[in-house]
Amino acid sequence: MCRHLAWLGAPRSLGELVLEPEHGLLRQSYQPRRQARGLMNADGWGVGFFVPEQEAPVRWRSAKPLWGETSFASVAPVLRSGAVLAAVRSATVGMPMDETAAAPFTDGRWLLSHNGKVDRSVLPADRRAESACDSALLAAHVFDRGPDLLGETVRAVAGRDPAAYLGLLLTDGERILATTWGDPLSHLVTDEGVAVASEPWDDDPRWVDVPDRSLLEVTPAGVTVTELES
Ligand code: GLN
Repeated sequence: MCRHLAWLGAPRSLGELVLEPEHGLLRQSYQPRRQARGLMNADGWGVGFFVPEQEAPVRWRSAKPLWGETSFASVAPVLRSGAVLAAVRSATVGMPMDETAAAPFTDGRWLLSHNGKVDRSVLPADRRAESACDSALLAAHVFDRGPDLLGETVRAVAGRDPAAYLGLLLTDGERILATTWGDPLSHLVTDEGVAVASEPWDDDPRWVDVPDRSLLEVTPAGVTVTELES
């Protein structure tokens, strides 16, 4: 399963968010701490982030392991943003291996990452999907129904594929939405902003684990977590 993170708050460099934390995404690409399936996340990575100059987020994705990306590592310390979503990928068997299958996927202002797997036959065929990868099809389905229906959409997809893992993470630069369905997720609130991540990137005691089968929403008003199954 993949690992992902989102940050909303004071501008931080991509180096600070993705590469430098002791147990951050870079380390998680070869040595995750809380990953039940898959030993590492070496099948690509991606980061999407908002910049003041434009409305839609920009992305940098790659099919290579994050640890080999020396050019990204040299530029990451000067790329700064207050709204970031990043992921490292462990591809599901049978899925495409090129960079278009790496999260984040996007639609307008939204960025989306999927930690998990889903049977593609339970999802509608969608010409707007960025890749034939299950996660890209799921992203297109979520965008189609509208991110405000995220909880409902996840419950419905899980109903059609009970073996699915449906950890989703989205941001439009103003809020973060996330679901837990089979894989871990934590959040961290500081004076500077809010982070949501598959695994805590350090041992700060303020990290809070999100219960499985939950919907999490981060807005300027704070963090809310609601149960997905009644
Ligand atoms: N199923 C997705 C893929 O193949 C995500 C995999 C994951 O979460 N490890 O990329």
